[in-house]
Amino acid sequence: MLTRETIITRNEYLDEPIVPPRDASDAIAPVAGHGLFDNVLQQFNAAADLIRLDRNVRKILARTKNEIVVNFPVRMDNGDVEVFTGYRVQHNDTLGPFKGGLRFHPDVNLDEVRALAAWMTWKCALVGVPFGGAKGGIQIDPARYSIGERERITRRFAFALGDNIGPEYDIPAPDVNTNAQIMAWFMDTYLSTVPPHQRQNCIHVVTGKPIELGGSAGREKATGQGVAVAVQCWYEDHGLPLRDATFMVQGFGNVGSWAARQLAALGARLVAVEDVTGAVANPSGLDIDALLAYVRTHGGVARFPGGAFADHIMFMNTPADIFVPAAMENQITAETAPWLKARLVAEGANGPTDPAGDAILRARGIGVLPDILANAGGVIVSYFEWLQNKRRESWDLKEVDGQLRRKLIAAYEQVRAKATELKTDWRTAAYVVALSRLEKVYLERGIFP
Ligand code: GLU
Repeated sequence: MLTRETIITRNEYLDEPIVPPRDASDAIAPVAGHGLFDNVLQQFNAAADLIRLDRNVRKILARTKNEIVVNFPVRMDNGDVEVFTGYRVQHNDTLGPFKGGLRFHPDVNLDEVRALAAWMTWKCALVGVPFGGAKGGIQIDPARYSIGERERITRRFAFALGDNIGPEYDIPAPDVNTNAQIMAWFMDTYLSTVPPHQRQNCIHVVTGKPIELGGSAGREKATGQGVAVAVQCWYEDHGLPLRDATFMVQGFGNVGSWAARQLAALGARLVAVEDVTGAVANPSGLDIDALLAYVRTHGGVARFPGGAFADHIMFMNTPADIFVPAAMENQITAETAPWLKARLVAEGANGPTDPAGDAILRARGIGVLPDILANAGGVIVSYFEWLQNKRRESWDLKEVDGQLRRKLIAAYEQVRAKATELKTDWRTAAYVVALSRLEKVYLERGIFP
């Protein structure tokens, strides 16, 4: 076996040995107890240890670069003013401008946004789009506010972020509870703050816009589509037919509902869905179009007449071949991982599996398509949107779908190859691909001064 001392990473351009980590204490210790960013650090340390990531690069990547917290007032419909707290965490911009979504959710907090920002850095590095990682959000339950209030909250947040955002600097996109409309308000507000002659050159300040405003064909379905492409690759690799495979989805928002439609189009059968309102199951298959129509009028999947009631424990115990968590973090844990019947978990959400849950999935031989690979379709098409805006082009859906597929399959194949080469799990392998790219660039660029 190779010892630490025998492994010397070289900067090809300088031909100088790079000092390997001194000892295990180079692992970056979690700072604040059991937060989500600790999950990121545990995943990061596993991969960094495996490849003996340069210890200085390790120090840099284990921290976020900028953390912006803004408190801003907004006038409510009843005339009162409420003060909101918004976050934007910029983790790293070594590979390109900061990039990542904005979420509106009551649980948004600095630790969560840090973790989500770091996952964006790894994701962009893994799939080879020239972006760094960022994430933002506001701690609110958007359902409690009127449309007018949501618009004013969004606009005032964009204004409060000011120059911390920019088309070549930091580019937001939709995430949990945000959509093309929110991006339109965000863009409009940002553009109002730049000189008139520069406005037309700045519409790529956000992605995930409505098509009429410069959004890309295929962006809305892109994340769910990417999940389906990754699942399809995994099934082909394992010589298994997707036709008549069963799957279950947690979360029926943009990612979950599109993943369901795309997997169904490949012949798989949706047998259970859970969202914040509850869960429904039907072993003979749920009618996805009917479910979508039901969710539009009832606000959630609970009591959908095309399936039977299921509680959370029943849902997590559903006999299904594929589980697509497409909601929030920390859903597959030491408690719930033993319940799963699936052979494959395809992570549509960011961070749905915590390290303890991950260890159980590994021990049980359940395949995992990790979030930074499985849900990368969204940011891939965000990149296409950004490019189209810069070039003043408009690609058709066929073009977008084809390019998305190509990029995602390329990343999938690199992760598979790395997992085989290093005899490691796919999450660690995905981190290795991403971290190696970042390390190379850091070693070539060096640290100023
Ligand atoms: N919010 C999405 C994600 O977590 C997309 C980010 C983007 O397109 O910038 O990957």
